[in-house]
Amino acid sequence: MAPFTSPLAEELAPDLLDRFQRYVRVDTQSRRDGNDGTPSTPGQLDLSRMLVEELQAAGLEDAELDDNGYVMATLPAGIDGEAPVIGLIAHLDTTPAERGAGVEPIVHRDYDGGVIELPRNGTVLDPASMPELAGKSGHDLVTSSGDTLLGADDKAGVAEIMTAVAHLAAHPELRRPTLRIGFTPDEEIGEGAELFDVRRFGARCAYTLDGSTIGELQDETFTGVEAIVTIEGVEVHPGFATGKLVNPIRLAGRVLAALPPELTPEATGGRDGFIHVYEVNGRTGSAEIRAIVRDFDDELLERHLAVLRRTAEEVVATEPRARLEIEVRRQYRNMREYIEPYPEIVELAERAIRAEGIEPRRTPIRGGTDGSRLSEMGLPTPNIFTGGNEYHSLREWASVQDMAAAAATIVRLAEVWADG
Ligand SMILES: [Zn+2]
Repeated sequence: MAPFTSPLAEELAPDLLDRFQRYVRVDTQSRRDGNDGTPSTPGQLDLSRMLVEELQAAGLEDAELDDNGYVMATLPAGIDGEAPVIGLIAHLDTTPAERGAGVEPIVHRDYDGGVIELPRNGTVLDPASMPELAGKSGHDLVTSSGDTLLGADDKAGVAEIMTAVAHLAAHPELRRPTLRIGFTPDEEIGEGAELFDVRRFGARCAYTLDGSTIGELQDETFTGVEAIVTIEGVEVHPGFATGKLVNPIRLAGRVLAALPPELTPEATGGRDGFIHVYEVNGRTGSAEIRAIVRDFDDELLERHLAVLRRTAEEVVATEPRARLEIEVRRQYRNMREYIEPYPEIVELAERAIRAEGIEPRRTPIRGGTDGSRLSEMGLPTPNIFTGGNEYHSLREWASVQDMAAAAATIVRLAEVWADG
C-alpha cells in the first residue's frame, strides 16, 4: 500500500474520502446555453446549501450562500495580534463536456497497477496510455462507474478545503491566519469569477484548489480570447445559381483547411499557444467559425490572431461578393503579471508543499482558472494540486493519498501564513 505523505494526511483521509463521495453524487454540472441566471443550473445550489450547513456545523458561523450561488465563510485566526486574511477557493460545478448526473463513485483499494475496467460503458483506464496512473500502484483510487464524469474537477478541491478547515476548526492549538473560504459556481463555463465579490471576500490573496498532479503549484495561465469569424455569401436557388450563388460554407471549409496545422492544441505543448477551432455553423446564407486562441505571451497571442485574420481575409478575398466579419472577445488574462508583485504568495505555498514532504512542481496551466479572472480583479490567486486526473472525461480518477496530501498542504499553508 502506498504510504501517505504524512501522518496528518493519513489522519485526514477518511473524512476527506467520505466528503468527496458525498459531494460527487450531487449533480452540479453547469450549462453553457442555459438561461442567463447564475448559477446556470439549480443542482449547484444543492451542493452550496450542503456546504453551508457543514461549514456552520464545523463552527464557521458566518457561512452564507448568496443569490448567485457563491458560498463564503470565515475561520477566524488562531494567533495573537494582526493576522493576514488568506482565501481558499474551489468551484462547485462540473464540466458540461460529459454526462455529470448520477455519479456513482467506486473506490479501488490498493491499486495493483493494471488496467481498470469500469462496469459501465466499456470505459477503461489503461496505465499504458495514462502515465500518471502508471505511478499510482498501491494507492486507493476513486473513479466513476464508467458512464459519467467523476467530478474530481473540482469536488476534490472542495472536499480538501472542507476537510482541512474542519480539522483546523477542531484544533484551535494549530496556528492559522484568518481563512476565508469561497466556493464558486459556473467555473467550467468561464463565469466562475464574474460575480465573485472580491471586496466582500476581503482576502489579500487566495489559492484555488483546482490543479491536478501532486505537487503542482501554478501561478501562470494562458491569456485567452475567442474569435468569431462570420462569412456571408449570396443565397440563390441552386437551380438558378449559375454564376450567382456564393456558398459561405465552402468558403469556411477553405479557411479551416488553410489554418496552419502546427498551431493546433494537438500539435503544441508546454509554453506554445494555439488556435483551436471548436465550433462551425453554416447555412446557405452565412457560416460561422468559432475559435479560441491561447498563449502565455501577449505578443504571440496577437500573432496567432493575425494568422487567423489573414487566413480568413485571403480566402474570402477570392470571392468579392462574400463578406467577412471577425469579432474578438477577451476571455481571461495570464495571472502571472498580477501575482509576480507579491512573491510571498508563491513562496509560502512552496514552503507549505515542502512541509508536507512534496517537491513543488511549477507548471504553467494550459488553460484558465477562476484565479485568472480573480487575479485580474485584484485578488492574486495561484492554483494548487488536488490529486485528480483525466479531467473532463469518463476516465476521470483521483488518488485518495494525493487528495489527502492536498488537504494536509492546506493545513501547512495556514501554519506558514500564521508564521509569516
Ligand atoms: Zn476545475
